[in-house]
Amino acid sequence: MSKAKKWNMIVNVAKCNNCYNCFVGAKDEYVGNEYKGYTAPQPLHGHQWIDIKRAEGGQWPMVEAQFRPQMCNHCDDAPCMKVAKNGAITKRADGIVIIDPVKSKGQKEIVDACPYNSVFWNEELEIPQAWPFDAHLLDNGWDKTKAETCCPTDVFKSVKVSDAEMLRIADQEELKTLEAKGGGKPRVYYKNSDVFDYAFLGGTVIKVNNGIEDCVEGVQVTASKDGAVIGSAVTDGFGDFKIQKLTKSLGSVELKIERDGEVIKTRTADVQESIYIGCITI
Ligand code: SF4
Ligand code: SF4
Repeated sequence: MSKAKKWNMIVNVAKCNNCYNCFVGAKDEYVGNEYKGYTAPQPLHGHQWIDIKRAEGGQWPMVEAQFRPQMCNHCDDAPCMKVAKNGAITKRADGIVIIDPVKSKGQKEIVDACPYNSVFWNEELEIPQAWPFDAHLLDNGWDKTKAETCCPTDVFKSVKVSDAEMLRIADQEELKTLEAKGGGKPRVYYKNSDVFDYAFLGGTVIKVNNGIEDCVEGVQVTASKDGAVIGSAVTDGFGDFKIQKLTKSLGSVELKIERDGEVIKTRTADVQESIYIGCITI
């Protein structure tokens, strides 16, 4: 494994509030501006070099959403490079992938080759374009990308480290890269993207006294699949429980509701995506 230091981007999804400052920052940097050897101007409309994706989970009244900025992943085994002709795409020693704005002219197949939909076609110039990791800024002494300077909540963190060090960081901070069919070892890492990656199973435990429904706080709800426990939660002051980080498309799950160690109710739920199963009366 190479000891050379290379750029990687860490994106903390839990901190993103969908303000679009990073998107606008990329527009400010690239629309109407040419950086020779890096990129031709981005058109005013139609390109999302930093693209804010949204994921939603659950049903009323237990709903959650997250926003995830996505851009060129600067893949180490980049599918786009495999279709590029005439050396139109190069991988720099520091990990950054550059689509040459001159050599790539007419090569629309580069757009289709990216499994992450991160390449956009410039109709006017007839070239494919993607976020170039702000390489022109980094080469001029910047120690961070434009998006990092624009983001009010510190979602982005670019790090220039060896591959071994990046693997260690990814393991320690539980980072993930995007998955795509034919994807090629991305260098953009995501953190805390639970709504995109997992399902939750939520509900509300109540009891009925003299016709009045009361929330039940402090009961344990445990979910099992084929006899193995897959998660648990304790109801809050509203009787709500939310069992997090479940694998999607689990299918039938058994729920056990316990108070003071005694099982007081069982039921099943079908978990495909995040689900709120409503009230459970004990
Ligand atoms: S994300 Fe797409 S455009 Fe960027 S390096 Fe990977 S394959 Fe190429
Ligand atoms: S600037 Fe930061 S908080 Fe705003 S959309 Fe971009 S990543 Fe999210």
